[in-house]
Amino acid sequence: MTKESPHERARHLACAAWVEPLPDKERVWLDGHLEACAACRSESAALGAGVASVRVADTRAAATLVAATRRALEERATELDDARLRRAGLLLSCGLSALLLLTLLGLQWRLLGAGSWFHLSPLTWQVLSLWLWLWPAALVVALLALHRRLAHVSRAEWRTT
Ligand SMILES: [Zn+2]
Repeated sequence: MTKESPHERARHLACAAWVEPLPDKERVWLDGHLEACAACRSESAALGAGVASVRVADTRAAATLVAATRRALEERATELDDARLRRAGLLLSCGLSALLLLTLLGLQWRLLGAGSWFHLSPLTWQVLSLWLWLWPAALVVALLALHRRLAHVSRAEWRTT
């Protein structure tokens, strides 16, 4: 590690002094250096002027900008909530379908065999069997779509009030 030159040390301390008070020992050293070194004194004065100009600048945002930013943030938060809900619904529907497949596989196999009793084509029974397997996923998708629709209506009502 290279040792800091007195001018670099003065620059660092002058910057730090604008953030928080320096310990007495460093304050005394900095004051002594600035008194003796015109370059560092000038740089410190320029830094002070820059900090002062920032402090007096009006940083308040216009009310319309604040409202637009708030609205954009709320919309983004809603999008993220919807995406999280969609992922949860997808996982839930996959889980339900897999569970139903495992539990009803034997029953479906017997139903496929029973199809011949009713003289239905194997294709009809296969489609019915597929529907038995898919209905939980279809139910979850329908519930998610309903939830999204209700949330959209609720947000629209909230904005108009
Ligand atoms: Zn200096």
